[in-house]
Amino acid sequence: MTTATDIKKDIRLLSDAAVEDLFKEMGQPAFRARQVQEWLWQKGVHDFEAMTNLPKTLREQLSASFEIRPISVDKVQHSSDGTIKSRFRLHDGHLIEAVLIPVPEDGRFTVCVSCQVGCSLTCKFCATGRMKRVRNLDAAEIFDQVVLVNRQCLDAFKHPVTNVVYMGMGEPLLAYRNVLESIGRLTSPKGLGMSPRRITVSTAGIAKMIRQLADDEVRFNLALSLHAADDEKRNEIMPINEQNNLSVLMDALSYFYQKTRNRISYEYIAFQGINDSLEDAVKLSELCVRFPVRVNIIEYNPIDDAPFIKAEADQIDRFAAYLRKKDIMVTVRRSRGKDIDAACGQLANKA
Ligand code: SF4
Repeated sequence: MTTATDIKKDIRLLSDAAVEDLFKEMGQPAFRARQVQEWLWQKGVHDFEAMTNLPKTLREQLSASFEIRPISVDKVQHSSDGTIKSRFRLHDGHLIEAVLIPVPEDGRFTVCVSCQVGCSLTCKFCATGRMKRVRNLDAAEIFDQVVLVNRQCLDAFKHPVTNVVYMGMGEPLLAYRNVLESIGRLTSPKGLGMSPRRITVSTAGIAKMIRQLADDEVRFNLALSLHAADDEKRNEIMPINEQNNLSVLMDALSYFYQKTRNRISYEYIAFQGINDSLEDAVKLSELCVRFPVRVNIIEYNPIDDAPFIKAEADQIDRFAAYLRKKDIMVTVRRSRGKDIDAACGQLANKA
């Protein structure tokens, strides 16, 4: 049965220009549109009635035609290392996850957000990849994750979120427009006013869309989930590589760097006996010559019945040392939030 609520549109799906046009049509002055946008994107208000500087008749008109569909907190888990994982419920009942990764000693408080319900890319080491892709999140649903996690961060650490990474559930470049729109809201002075330099979008590697980012002259950082430095191995663990092989990806990244000069990093989960040998390090170093790149080596977190083992610490050290010798910037990241399944590749809405 269709109800009146079903046919109301979420006002946050309208662009700024569309809201301005709407208010013009309603015979309202332009500043009223700005007031509403401020309530929605700066103050995070989700109820027209609470927009107290609008005339009552206008609030009623808006409530009659529109709704606001915020995400809500479904479950919060705290890791012993300070990481906080949140499960959020979307208006249609679907669940997604976001993770706060605090590093107070560096003044760094990073939120990792999701951009799809599930994922279509089936990377073999990833729990999300075992869930079917259901739908993309809209820009407001992505934005809300940052707002809600920012509140958690203020509560727990008396510090706002400093960085946002699009590395949660889903492939950001397959939710392209919504991801860019959400970043627009996060970085706009009319939104959260964050610097794009503090935002990183991580892709499993969709060459065409990396070129699109370059053509759109985005200002945020880009990370490639590389995880293997030759096609044979990469095809095995990331089926997306079959249509986007390393040569095509390197051309796309090079194009991205030439056009934007934005920072590029490679994410590299170290799997024992698969991609952690010196030979792998040599191949990886060869992918670091065409543009400046930082390599983040990440400790693997086991997911249920996946046939991977994490690489030994001394093997990772040798691997990293080789890259450093080649003047490549490398960081080795110990995983965070493992005890609550919040680490890289572990997000899967587990009960
Ligand atoms: S690693 Fe990312 S792209 Fe690959 S299956 Fe998981 S969520 Fe999807």
